[in-house]
Amino acid sequence: HMEPAVSSKAKVIAFANQKGGVAKTTTTLNLAAAFAEEGHRVLCVDMDPQGNLTMSQGIDPDSLEKSMFDVLVYDLSIREVIRRREIDVACASIDLAGAEIAMSTKIGRERSLEKAFRPILEDYDFICIDTPPSLGLLTINALTAADKVIVPVQCEYLSMRGLIQLQNTLSMIRENLNPDVDIEGILPTLVDSRTIHAKEAIEILEENFGDRVFASRIKKTVRFAEAPVRGMSVLKYDPDGMAAQSYRELAKEVLGNGKR
Ligand code: ADP
Ligand code: MG
Repeated sequence: HMEPAVSSKAKVIAFANQKGGVAKTTTTLNLAAAFAEEGHRVLCVDMDPQGNLTMSQGIDPDSLEKSMFDVLVYDLSIREVIRRREIDVACASIDLAGAEIAMSTKIGRERSLEKAFRPILEDYDFICIDTPPSLGLLTINALTAADKVIVPVQCEYLSMRGLIQLQNTLSMIRENLNPDVDIEGILPTLVDSRTIHAKEAIEILEENFGDRVFASRIKKTVRFAEAPVRGMSVLKYDPDGMAAQSYRELAKEVLGNGKR
């Protein structure tokens, strides 16, 4: 086993949108799987008390003795909660729902995740953080620890107000906690190419956010609901399908954007 000649630090990407059901978890896992397919070392971090990302790799959150709760609240080493599956997953369970209150009196509460990453930054090329559907302390921890943010947007129910609110939160994070964090891109998800509405929604996105909107689009298909039930990414579940291909294309776009 040869060590790489030059060790480099992971690029940390948070997947955020305070709206639920926009494919944050799906995008976190499948983009991570696409990076891994390209030979990158990838960690996914589940910051959602619902533990959907953890479950989507076939891990039962109720079976976990320690989880991201212990990392954030008690400074447990993140290595203790990483399970190796298709990709590495730092697992969440429902107790994470109590983390925001448990952390509220902690000094440096916004930086708990950033601090947890420090010892493992050289172990990975990418760290992908799934966030809950809110802009509370768990998401603030993710945005503070991140180099970049990917914003999945469901084109069917486009909420411009929601996106502006997310941008305002990001501005506050930049001013107070993490000056360099920026949006890597906005990703149109759950695109039903048959409807005029989806087309219009993407046009509105592009008018408002220009080239911040990824060229990749993630179309609607039942494969995305089927794969997690088997504990797999769509890249493993249906490697030749268009669902897998769309995340490979997104990976190419992100890999082509600077740094790596
Ligand atoms: P979030 O994490 O933002 O709440 P999820 O990733 O859990 O969203 O996705 C919400 C639901 O939509 C899940 O049931 C998921 O399987 C499904 N889904 C995600 N992406 C797609 C897609 N491109 N086509 C069809 N269903 C999808
Ligand atoms: Mg989710």
